[in-house]
Amino acid sequence: MTAGIALIFIMRDFIQDTMGRLIFLYFIAALAFRIDAKLPVAAAIMLLAGASVMISKNEAFANSLAIYAYYFLVIGAVQNLIEYVSKKKKTEGPKDEELLLIGEKRRFAEPEKSRIIAIASGKGGVGKTTIAANLGASLAELGKRVILIDMDLAMPNLEIITGLKTPPAGLIDVLDGTKKLEHVVYSGPSGVNVIPPGVMLEGYSEGNTEKIRALFKDFPLKSDYMILDMPPGREAVNVLSEKMEALLVVNPDKASILDALNMKMILSRKDVNILGIILNRAQRNDEKWIDEIERILESPVVAFIPESIVVREALHNEECFVEAQPESKPSKEIMNLAKEISVNFTYSSNNKAQ
Ligand code: ADP
Ligand code: MG
Repeated sequence: MTAGIALIFIMRDFIQDTMGRLIFLYFIAALAFRIDAKLPVAAAIMLLAGASVMISKNEAFANSLAIYAYYFLVIGAVQNLIEYVSKKKKTEGPKDEELLLIGEKRRFAEPEKSRIIAIASGKGGVGKTTIAANLGASLAELGKRVILIDMDLAMPNLEIITGLKTPPAGLIDVLDGTKKLEHVVYSGPSGVNVIPPGVMLEGYSEGNTEKIRALFKDFPLKSDYMILDMPPGREAVNVLSEKMEALLVVNPDKASILDALNMKMILSRKDVNILGIILNRAQRNDEKWIDEIERILESPVVAFIPESIVVREALHNEECFVEAQPESKPSKEIMNLAKEISVNFTYSSNNKAQ
């Protein structure tokens, strides 16, 4: 556009003669199809058409029409420039330096392969999103490169807890081919990288499931951990596959534990390695549940997170409690879990059911 304006300036004497007017006409026509400011351009075209009709009858008049056309064109170009700049500002995603671009921002040695850990449960509302965000932030605190992916296409809320407000694009835009993956990665707490789902009306349709599976197979961004905040239900499990791992979140109630057992069986059928169980929203005397959970689910309870005001407050403030209240009991539990995960590759004794 700037080049267009410069060209008009350079040509402003030249456009006074007939040959110049023809070229100028051609130039306007080209611009008219390419720029948004259609009104001033249309006015310029009409004036120029008038000028070319008048040229043989009244040259002076035709010349002044051409000059007015030129002014309209400049107005159009300026208007277009303003629209272009303001539109760009509105739709601008995160700046390049805010993007993941792992390896450029932080130069860790690349791991053989990133570990993909799904935070799953049988039932909704048990604390998956809360745990996914805080576990991701804890691993990032330990210096790991973490990508948190919100797999809840219908009710995404990882964005809230990681303070992203309304990210302009997400996974769906990558599946559609309209965005590159690195352009839907946002900076979250403790340097964790977050991929929101975007507006995905069809949810886990067959097409989307296939595309997500393909994306995971050949994930273009490097990281140490990918933490998947899973939705409740079994549809999303279809994107998981062997070599992936899972943590099952349960609350201290029978329904939640039996639903988790169901989920565990589905995951085991997919050869997903169950790292352990997180007992969340527990009361002080709920430790008695640990044995029962381990017996029913045949997996170790790897974290015991109490029902806590710290968790609720952090959600309310749109932040991670491991950052806001690192000394609290929930933070210590999650931090310990993060350390265990990063030290032990797997909890090898946990898949007795397989
Ligand atoms: P899910 O992702 O499994 O649906 P969420 O992480 O969204 O569950 O949690 C559901 C609700 O429970 C949220 O309001 C969250 O703040 C609350 N919550 C989760 N864990 C705790 C906890 N340990 N103490 C208090 N509130 C909790
Ligand atoms: Mg959730």
